[in-house]
Amino acid sequence: MNEQHQLSKSEVIEAIPLACSDELAAVEFFEAVRWTDNPICVHCGSAEVYKMLDPKTGQRNKRYLWRCRACGKQYTVRIGMVCEESRLPLRHWCYAFWRASTSKKGVAALEIQRHCQISYKSALFLMNRIRFAMAPDNPAAEKLTGTVECDETYVGGKPRIRGNATRGRGTKKTPVFAAVERHGRIRRQVIADVSGRTLKGAIREMVDKQARIMTDDFVSYNGIGNEFTGGHHTVAHSTNEYVRGDIHTNTAESSFAILKRGIMGIYHNVSKEYLHRYLWQFDFLWNARKMNDGERTAVAIKLAEGKRLMYKQPLAA
Ligand SMILES: [Zn+2]
Repeated sequence: MNEQHQLSKSEVIEAIPLACSDELAAVEFFEAVRWTDNPICVHCGSAEVYKMLDPKTGQRNKRYLWRCRACGKQYTVRIGMVCEESRLPLRHWCYAFWRASTSKKGVAALEIQRHCQISYKSALFLMNRIRFAMAPDNPAAEKLTGTVECDETYVGGKPRIRGNATRGRGTKKTPVFAAVERHGRIRRQVIADVSGRTLKGAIREMVDKQARIMTDDFVSYNGIGNEFTGGHHTVAHSTNEYVRGDIHTNTAESSFAILKRGIMGIYHNVSKEYLHRYLWQFDFLWNARKMNDGERTAVAIKLAEGKRLMYKQPLAA
């Protein structure tokens, strides 16, 4: 009935250029990524579905509609994805997903605007929805394990004085916390301040209780080791000690360097209220770094499923 099939890695790579320029190819690419061999009704979940054809041409209906035999409803692949409420062609979504998923330094809305020949406002809308698609689905269920480096930084420059838990307050500098598994996943979040209460709270929220915690000797981390089976190991950055055996926070620091280069190089600056969206994107790129460009793009599109109902609240933040 439906001749969809799951795209292989090389087919994904080959499909993307056409899907960025041809609307039917874009629709079929999104359908293949979302449903693979098993297209289902977005309303009732039935597999008794078919592509509607234009009676005159015998080709697919101009709106790329599907119809469900079980519930009788019609729908498109956009329904239930971040692109549901958009009228922008799916080929532009495809291009923006591909660029956002493959550019190590991030991608500017201006570039999307120029390439797709859409308004800057539309390009921003696309990028914001795509960043939201990249946000973790269920952060509470995805705690970091093993050796986890924890560190904090300021985006927008470092304050001059270190060691004061209220540093950066009242400036445009935004504190960001990172927890990174050695050779694994990353989670970052914008934090209110760098007090012990805030930083330890972030560690508890993101890191599994069995983990081995690595930080520098910043006082706010003192005492966190009691709560983690693997203990708390520190290097004394305050006295220029950066590595002792396998104890260091180099992974977390290099993740911040990449983040800052991306934000400053492409976006110039990001205000505090929007920074969390960029963290979603840069964390996604880090976590999917071992995939090839096609797989990473397909995963981002797949993540866009189910995000529609949630986006209003986080994007308003
Ligand atoms: Zn149905």
